[in-house]
Amino acid sequence: MAARLLDGTAVANQIRAEAAPDVAAFTARAGRPPGLAIVLVGDDPASEIYVRGKLKSAGEAGLRADLERLPPTASLGELLGLVERLNRSEAHDGILVQSPLPAAMGADAEYRVVDVIDPRKDVDGFHPTNVGYLVQNRATLASCTPSGIVTLLERSGIQIAGARAVVIGRSDIVGKPMALLLLHRNATVTVCHSRTQDLPRVASEADILVSAIGRPGFVTPAFAKPGATVVDVGTTQVSDRATIERMFPIGSKRREAFERRGSIVVGDVHPDVAEVAGALTPVPGGVGPLTIAMLLRNTVTAAIQRAGWAG
Ligand code: NAP
Repeated sequence: MAARLLDGTAVANQIRAEAAPDVAAFTARAGRPPGLAIVLVGDDPASEIYVRGKLKSAGEAGLRADLERLPPTASLGELLGLVERLNRSEAHDGILVQSPLPAAMGADAEYRVVDVIDPRKDVDGFHPTNVGYLVQNRATLASCTPSGIVTLLERSGIQIAGARAVVIGRSDIVGKPMALLLLHRNATVTVCHSRTQDLPRVASEADILVSAIGRPGFVTPAFAKPGATVVDVGTTQVSDRATIERMFPIGSKRREAFERRGSIVVGDVHPDVAEVAGALTPVPGGVGPLTIAMLLRNTVTAAIQRAGWAG
């Protein structure tokens, strides 16, 4: 039996539609729209695509969306200076610094930057203050991808309270906040990573399995309990034919897309998992659109909170 597909695009559209009255009310009262600044350092092609998508969505939602670019040769000091200027800007309620930063900025550059962002404008939810609020279950600006996933599960009628949840991946931006959000909704949560022993066995105990590792097709049917909900966060641009042949049979839509374009974005979850799982998020069209919708929601929330109009 094929798993039900969880439609991230439809839920993302709902989230955007629900934010629209708040955008209109804020704009009328403040005399300006909620403002988002996106900082892009360098010319990484994938980052260019992500940033373009975020700017377009923000503009369509009635937000002010500004791209602040720095050249690949920019120093960490210049980037920190730009963030401090945006912290002081009255027109900007949200600041997002696109990852990855150029390697020359140093191994701890992302932490240095996040530490400087005004927590009230931290629409990614990465600042230690907001991470602390998340641990205490009182976050108002939580990491966009995991909070989008929780919204998708809730609106798809997936029972979280009492469920066994397994999260594969323990990054600061996906795995850890995902585990916390599920815990706060009363799931019993296990977090797995590259040193987990017998990962398929642990994963196959999950009612809700979230994979956020960035390894195409890594999660096979052996990882899935029959009827489980499987959330595929992974997005990897794949141009390697052997990987595609292992995942997508000749004649399938995705295989044809690969033949046409020479590379496609692929999730962590092997398509055969659909034969075992009860519900599954597709790639593309699952988690990705939710991430952008939550970024817009967080920007509107930040604007309302900064103005002192919350609650
Ligand atoms: P990350 O920082 O690279 O973290 C990857 C995690 O996966 C690490 O915790 C790592 O374990 C674990 N891992 C790697 N190989 C593993 C293996 N063989 N077995 C078990 N665990 C393994 O990645 P991320 O930023 O969290 O992103 C993960 C994926 O999600 C990427 O494909 C990314 O592109 C995608 N993503 C998508 C969206 C979206 O909107 N759709 C948003 C964010 C991220 P260790 O900690 O032990 O190294």
